[in-house]
Amino acid sequence: DVGVHVENISKSYGAGESRTTVLDKVSLTIRKGEFVSVIGPSGCGKSTLLKVVAGLSGADSGRVMINGKTVREAAKDKAIGLVPQAPALLPWRTILDNVSLPITVNPGANRGRNLRDPKELLRSFGLGHAIERYPAQLSGGMQQRAAIARAFVFDPEILLMDEPFSALDEMNRDQQRMGLLDFWQSNRKSVLFVTHSVPEAIILSDRIVLMAAHPGRIAEIIDVDLPRPRN
Ligand code: ADP
Ligand code: ADP
Repeated sequence: DVGVHVENISKSYGAGESRTTVLDKVSLTIRKGEFVSVIGPSGCGKSTLLKVVAGLSGADSGRVMINGKTVREAAKDKAIGLVPQAPALLPWRTILDNVSLPITVNPGANRGRNLRDPKELLRSFGLGHAIERYPAQLSGGMQQRAAIARAFVFDPEILLMDEPFSALDEMNRDQQRMGLLDFWQSNRKSVLFVTHSVPEAIILSDRIVLMAAHPGRIAEIIDVDLPRPRN
């Protein structure tokens, strides 16, 4: 039971006439250290799936197991790292304080977990020179890298990312992708990565989950067998 097992997840929103099924019996497995991207048209349930796997939203039926634990247990153990669509850094705190925030606000949470040094993490993401700066003094790409670094603080077993590069221009996206790939190659985590970019999914993933809409379901799972580009 190592890895992430999404088993028969269904979810609807609304009630009565307006009740709509957003996820219809979605099942998928992310093996340990595997990078899985989810692509599909807008509204097919990608974010909803991610929220269910993160434990932020409940499913109507089915279950998610993370290394043999329920999502609730895994979340309590800080085993789930989440990178939101927008970097969500606190503007009045330095980059270092932002990345240290998970530790600051969860003083007991380091018990039994391997904490990563926020400074080290920022250095690995090429932000060593920026740790004392404030978010507004950094480019969008740098801010997003800081948000990714923050998700690694508790050394999570799975990393969930919801279109983390969608706000960046194409040049910047390319650079951030490569930075993420580089870091991930030396810090193999199970990753569930939502994107609407096919090239991005191909560059980053071991497998691509193609979703279809109305209701959201898995249409196809594609193994990517390409040599990974090197930075
Ligand atoms: P995607 O990320 O693929 O664009 P979402 O998971 O955001 O898709 O949304 C899937 C569908 O569910 C959409 O039709 C959206 O409007 C609807 N939806 C998402 N969240 C909610 C919610 N909290 N309440 C009602 N409808 C929702
Ligand atoms: P839950 O955990 O209750 O299943 P979410 O956490 O996904 O729901 O969403 C919380 C709230 O956000 C919903 O109650 C809804 O009001 C609102 N919401 C988010 N996305 C949408 C959407 N696409 N359409 C309608 N409402 C939405």
